Amino acid sequence: KKYVYFFANGKAEGRADMKDILGGKGANLAEMTNLGIPVPPGFTISAEVCKYYYDHGRTYPEELKEQVEEAMRRLEEVTGKKFGDPNNPLLVSVRSGAAISMPGMMDTVLNLGLNDETVKGLAKLTNNERFAYDAYRRFLQMFGDVVLKIPHEKFEKALEELKKEKGVKLDTELDAEDLKKLVERYKQIYKEEGKEFPQDPWKQLWLAIDAVFGSWMNERAIKYRQIHGIKEGDLLGTAVNIVAMVFGNMGEDSGTGVAFTRDPNTGEKKPYGEFLPNAQGEDVVAGIRTPLKLEELKNRMPEVYNQLLEIMDKLEKHYRDMQDIEFTVERGKLYILQTRNGKRTSQAAIRIAVDMVHEGLITKEEAILRVRPEDVEQVLHPVFDPKEKAQAKVIAKGLPASPGAATGKVVFNAKKAEELGKAGEQVILVRPETSPEDVGGMAAAQGILTSRGGMTSHAAVVARGMGKPAVVGAESIEVHPEEGYFKVGDVVVKEGEWISIDGTTGEVLLGKVTTIKPQGLEGPVAELLQWADEIRRLGVRTNADIPRDAEVARKFGAEGIGLCRTEHMFFEKDRIPKVRRMILAKTKEEREKALDELLPLQKEDFKGLFRVMKGLPVTIRLIDPPLHEFLPQEDEQIKEVAEQMGVSFEELKNVVENLKELNPMLGHRGCRLTITYPEIAVMQTKAIIGAAIELKKEEGIDVIPEIMIPLVGHVNELRYLKKIIKETADALIKEAGVELTYKIGTMIEVPRAAVTAHQIAEEAEFFSFGTNDLTQMTFGFSRDDVGKFLPEYLEKGILEHDPFKTLDYDGVGELVRMGKEKGRSTRPDLKVGVCGEHGGDPRSILFFDKIGLDYVSCSPYRVPVARLAAAQAAL
Ligand code: ADP
Ligand code: MG
Ligand code: MG
Repeated sequence: KKYVYFFANGKAEGRADMKDILGGKGANLAEMTNLGIPVPPGFTISAEVCKYYYDHGRTYPEELKEQVEEAMRRLEEVTGKKFGDPNNPLLVSVRSGAAISMPGMMDTVLNLGLNDETVKGLAKLTNNERFAYDAYRRFLQMFGDVVLKIPHEKFEKALEELKKEKGVKLDTELDAEDLKKLVERYKQIYKEEGKEFPQDPWKQLWLAIDAVFGSWMNERAIKYRQIHGIKEGDLLGTAVNIVAMVFGNMGEDSGTGVAFTRDPNTGEKKPYGEFLPNAQGEDVVAGIRTPLKLEELKNRMPEVYNQLLEIMDKLEKHYRDMQDIEFTVERGKLYILQTRNGKRTSQAAIRIAVDMVHEGLITKEEAILRVRPEDVEQVLHPVFDPKEKAQAKVIAKGLPASPGAATGKVVFNAKKAEELGKAGEQVILVRPETSPEDVGGMAAAQGILTSRGGMTSHAAVVARGMGKPAVVGAESIEVHPEEGYFKVGDVVVKEGEWISIDGTTGEVLLGKVTTIKPQGLEGPVAELLQWADEIRRLGVRTNADIPRDAEVARKFGAEGIGLCRTEHMFFEKDRIPKVRRMILAKTKEEREKALDELLPLQKEDFKGLFRVMKGLPVTIRLIDPPLHEFLPQEDEQIKEVAEQMGVSFEELKNVVENLKELNPMLGHRGCRLTITYPEIAVMQTKAIIGAAIELKKEEGIDVIPEIMIPLVGHVNELRYLKKIIKETADALIKEAGVELTYKIGTMIEVPRAAVTAHQIAEEAEFFSFGTNDLTQMTFGFSRDDVGKFLPEYLEKGILEHDPFKTLDYDGVGELVRMGKEKGRSTRPDLKVGVCGEHGGDPRSILFFDKIGLDYVSCSPYRVPVARLAAAQAAL
């Protein structure tokens, strides 16, 4: 079996598409060779050997020895040098490289083949003793470190001491005699460590090969694969590349560097990189000397620079992606030692993809597939200044509930946050958890931090809706709002002190860290999303309750409102007393009176939304939460509110007690409320239909309201309410004498509704899957308590994803698929969407597209993400 693939002089046995066995580095070295790019000759030992090595107790297949020896003979032939020959020694590097790039995780040895004899030959041959001993000391250090596991600090210390003795700062200032001394000291270190340095180059070679294969299972590499979700079995292992050495440390006309074909930070189309004269590979990374900007190379070696640019251009056109290139110059001659697709920021990823379409390098479809949905989201949110962030102390980590960076003074009370916010102060609202009464404070704050709650907790959902950074469920934080401080370990942060939160990573940082503004939906990202719109099948709507959110969502490309939560309107300052009066009403008449006062206010809300959406569909959900959420819970507040309302403390307290439920999530809420109090549904219908009529009459705007009834589990619930709503609506329309179409539909969020969807569709004119509640009820996981056990489920691999974030395909997803099928079997033109958090999650969107839903609806700031994800799903 063939295990070794040779490359030299414009001809290689491997190719770029052989990454599985040659690794990324090896496959690209072969490809570049075939392209006629100057790559030093060498060969690659297949990653299949790595697999064999671990399957067979760290031994090699029988054929390997002969194949490696044969390849070395060929290498000697093409270089005209001989391995171990004191008069003309061949030196090689031994380099790792798996199919997926794992930068810096595995090992590389340079200058292999040097020993006490060959170093002299190298000195004579190059007429450069300093260079030869510089190479030798580097080899002793790398071999000692990588192969024999001698702590590298020992070598570094010896080098430092020598420089001190000589009174110099840079290692380039050491002369040949110094380096000879250093070589002796290094050998001494081997002795002290009880290790033997093999003088025999063949022994060196096999030990180095062992070390590279061995590094596949070192702790760093295993950890890296874990973090990046690379599973055992995804890859065969690492390949080993043995490459003839070229020397960047032969003087000022030599050097080594790294170049990107485009700026990896901004994406700008211009070469970017660094160059270090008179140096070998690892020096650039080690940061001992400050490298020069790539442009400097233009002044020092213009021909080399031009050749490099030509090669970069050729490579980019060939690979059709931005390349990250490692190169070395040996006495004015350029060699390319590696190329790969470069890592880049979100901003750069978008710009590069769009630019490459304009340059005719890739298609729009490819551009869409190349940008990750997270990239789109990332460019819409502020980020920390990287330099300041690196210096700030991370004191806690919570869930990354709403992306973006924020900094401000700590405030523990929503009212205070509002006051300070109005006064122009930057604040971070810190709470154990938030409730609807905190919404004003949340809006005024730069960001929100809570110590409890999950990804769909109130704080998380509301913050995402506002596009406000939030970290929730930071369990290590103890929040003491009354006492005015929070505590993590022994760090105490008092009200008024600065903290910073990163809602993209979940980090909480001490002090003020400057944030940098996002670029918004202009330029390349806008163009990319326009292409996405041409390609996607799935509609994208937004969840929005107020005109401002709706406006943001429109700017981000929302095609309607998929969910307007009407109860949010009830929490406004001027409304909540009226809502409370309605709750306290003892008779239907009293209740209707209170509702009558709410009606005009709610009608104005809807007019505002309809106006912004200019004829696009708007789905409005009737009141959903249990009534106790509108009442104070603590005696202190009950007293206060009772006073305001002119009722006795006892009376209000009594109502509060009566509304208490053991499990409010499964209690008196959703359609159950409006079945008990139909007059609420009547009022809301009047407000919705009335708003549509007035807009049509006054402003000529056509509206198609969609009235949505939550939490239906039985068709009779819907049937009962639909009749009342229809009568109310039709009477209003008739009275106004206008033509107006509206729809009455339901949320499918109770499992029974999905199972009986064919019956429900007899009444429902549209479905919207409320996947938050549906997930909660399908798993039987209370979404507010899930933080107690879900992390463990994920850690132990019981669940692969948080089902509240990423749709559970097999269970909840199956209910969605079935519900849609059954619904359409009754009503073929039934419009079916999703309005849960999953509507903005790319992996879930893929599923919703596949099963043929009509649209997803998500918070305004996720609309662009959903547009891209929907296009990717369609490709
Ligand atoms: P990594 O995967 O960690 O980047 P590499 O195998 O690419 O490791 O090696 C690191 C550096 O060592 C290269 O960027 C290059 O500068 C240098 N290097 C590797 N092989 C050679 C060689 N044959 N001649 C000169 N320098 C080399
Ligand atoms: Mg490299
Ligand atoms: Mg619900």
